[in-house]
Amino acid sequence: MFKKKKKFPFADSPNTACIVCKHILDEKRPILYVSHDEEDGCWQFMCGDEHVFTEDARVIALAEAFELDASISQVAGMPCGCFAERESAASDWRIFSRQ
Ligand SMILES: [Zn+2]
Repeated sequence: MFKKKKKFPFADSPNTACIVCKHILDEKRPILYVSHDEEDGCWQFMCGDEHVFTEDARVIALAEAFELDASISQVAGMPCGCFAERESAASDWRIFSRQ
């Protein structure tokens, strides 16, 4: 086995579109909330603030989200219909099911 640097952790393709809030993208805030949508499998990455969805959401590639915060690899295996939260960038992710 040869060593790969920073293996892409998601089962989805790196160019899969995902949603990130403008605070993470523009203000470099940490990702504190991750959702894997039950209906369409869409990934969403948000900071801890309240969001107005259409105004605050940005569409980027999954690879770009991983570049912004590589710690999302810890929740990359999370199935559709789940979301994960953490209190700060230093905290562990807690995964919840929407059921
Ligand atoms: Zn935000």
